Amino acid sequence: MKFNKHLKNINNYEAGKPIELVVREFGIKEDEVIKLASNENPNGVSKKALQALNKSINFANLYPDDSMFELKNSLSKKYNILDKNIIIGSGSDQIIEFIIHAKTNQNQGILVSKTTFAMYEIYAKHSDTKIFKTPSGIHNLNEFTKIYQENKDKISVIFLCVPNNPLGECLDAKDVYEFIKNTDEDTLIVIDGAYNEFAAFKDENKKINPKIISEFKNAIYLGTFSKLYGLGGMRVGYGIANENIISNLAKLRAPFNITTPSLAAAIAVLEDEDYIYHSLNNNLIEMKKFEEFAVKNGIKFIPSYTNFITFVLEKQDSTQICNSLLKKGIILRDLKSYNMNAIRITIGLKKQNEIVLKHLKELL
Ligand SMILES: *Cc1c(COP(=O)(O)O)cnc(C)c1O
Repeated sequence: MKFNKHLKNINNYEAGKPIELVVREFGIKEDEVIKLASNENPNGVSKKALQALNKSINFANLYPDDSMFELKNSLSKKYNILDKNIIIGSGSDQIIEFIIHAKTNQNQGILVSKTTFAMYEIYAKHSDTKIFKTPSGIHNLNEFTKIYQENKDKISVIFLCVPNNPLGECLDAKDVYEFIKNTDEDTLIVIDGAYNEFAAFKDENKKINPKIISEFKNAIYLGTFSKLYGLGGMRVGYGIANENIISNLAKLRAPFNITTPSLAAAIAVLEDEDYIYHSLNNNLIEMKKFEEFAVKNGIKFIPSYTNFITFVLEKQDSTQICNSLLKKGIILRDLKSYNMNAIRITIGLKKQNEIVLKHLKELL
């Protein structure tokens, strides 16, 4: 059977390996597997979210509230915005998809940094559209400006990942606002804040204010419940922008795209201040240990504003290292699919990190 030609160029996203795979292939007990590959919250599910989840199951026979009134209400209070400034997606991934479908076509594509979240490019390929990349892996706004100015008629969406996955670096908020100011009203600037809470906790200058983003005519802020909020399995993300952008993206949203338990868990975790603070604080403390390890052992790394750190290898091969660790029940993220000889490690709990660093010391 023939399919649309452009499907040939699409490679699926390489997800972090699941725990079950290590259990099956290497006979390691499930509770001994250390999974630090997908930047999930190592503290487990928030107790408040868990309670809400349990309760919500009783309503599984009913369709979810498609207006998502309560979650929008919580988010609008948190960010001092209005309901009409919010769209909810099945992960912020889904909102990236809406954006690509709403704004790109064969003549107008996207601009991204060379090494950034793979889904921007994958969704762009769904639309068979143009993909411009800056020469640098990390975000360099001068390069973004230059390519944008030279190709304005061919670029309708620019993605800034603040901070950037998988490298960990982070633009200053004021530079992001300044950049948006100097773009055309018709170019949508996407500020992906999947890890912005971690960056803001470390350095106030990195904190993007979604309300400010929503006051621009041509920008949208993306947030997710999958990272800091520990709900990756529930698939909830959100976009914040002016009403014009939100109402147009909403045309692409199918009804009931978020399940009742997912909505309930997201609402509850926003109120779990202890869980949030503990998660941020543990991350900051434990991150230092990885940095110290790298300095001590002569490993290159980019100072990270996220909940992961990326070690750039010089002598060893990242795939070999990741495979050796896998046999020991440790799942890390090999960055070969990003054309880098590097390993991305999610910052885990103290105990997990000690085991990972012990094994890394032996291998590196
Ligand atoms: C994880 C991640 C997302 C979205 O994750 P969802 O689980 O779909 O909400 C978006 N952007 C970046 C950079 C991410 O790392």
